[in-house]
Amino acid sequence: MTAELHDRAQQWPGGLEEVQRCPICADTRRERTLGDLRDGSFGAAPGIWRLKRCLGCRAIYLDPRPDASSIHLAYRDYYTHAPAPADVGGVSGWWKKALSNGYRNRVFATHLRPSLAVGGVVMPLFAARAARIRLEDRGLGRAQGTGQRMLDVGCGNGQFLRWARQLGWNCYGIEVDAAAAAVARGHGIEIVGSDLRELGQAHDRTFDAITLSHVIEHVYDPIDTLRQCWRLLKPGGYLWIQTPNTDSVGYEIYGADWRGLEAPRHLVLFNLASLSWSLERAGFEGIRILPPADVAEPVFMLSASIRLGRIAEKDATPLPQDVRESTRVATRQARALVRRNPGRSEFVTAIAYRPELAR
Ligand SMILES: [Zn+2]
Repeated sequence: MTAELHDRAQQWPGGLEEVQRCPICADTRRERTLGDLRDGSFGAAPGIWRLKRCLGCRAIYLDPRPDASSIHLAYRDYYTHAPAPADVGGVSGWWKKALSNGYRNRVFATHLRPSLAVGGVVMPLFAARAARIRLEDRGLGRAQGTGQRMLDVGCGNGQFLRWARQLGWNCYGIEVDAAAAAVARGHGIEIVGSDLRELGQAHDRTFDAITLSHVIEHVYDPIDTLRQCWRLLKPGGYLWIQTPNTDSVGYEIYGADWRGLEAPRHLVLFNLASLSWSLERAGFEGIRILPPADVAEPVFMLSASIRLGRIAEKDATPLPQDVRESTRVATRQARALVRRNPGRSEFVTAIAYRPELAR
């Protein structure tokens, strides 16, 4: 055990492991990129962590990291436990929801309630909100015909699956958090397991689409996770994946305080190139980067909160006026930068396909 690992072990109450090669490309060449990382998002995990950047594929990874026997300690008091957020109360909450649903019903031909048809006309005036809504279907669109099967890996409380069901998909989920899985089941979502590997050969080639929202950065072996998805997809099947982007403006501004890092739960972090490369390596084709989600504002606000030493996801106290102001300025600048170069967005979102022909 190295001295460094030993230091960390004194603060992390469970087992640790060294990561001697890149979890993505197995290259051993790396440089230290950030140190002194703490869990400023949820305050759930003790310890101080370091990140290394692979000189081969540029992926960034935690080293050392909690081992498989202790990683659960990082997930106590973590947000997938929570039930789906209750409907926003009050009259203005109802109006907002009804206008948004009116727009959704127009864009996706759904029948969500409550709904105001005028939302279909009004919402486009709020460009950022409308753009966010148009991305909500993860590029899936309506299911074509009946019986189309969709799997959401790390589905949490099933919020997305309930929405996909409105689009005509037969929805299934994988969720490791038993409390979150129970909430999803309560909404009639079928949870097929807690890990992709539990799905035996009978499930091979049975899904038309698989989605992974902020999951790939949590797993020990991302390439294996993508290969499992490939195995479960029908030939020609669709994969959608979103993860924090280390080429983002937020990573540059906030460094160790960037909300996307979330040590020690995020074990590997990607950019556009390393995510594309990983998908290719797992056997996918037709890889395409989707338009970026406009999330700079919430990500920057949370990062600014972490920088103030707060537990960002749990502290609802408003940020000091000057911090709020500078964060808004940074958000506007980031939006302008991302318009010119989508590779600088806070999240990278990609789609890919399992090839039609057997390999
Ligand atoms: Zn690498």
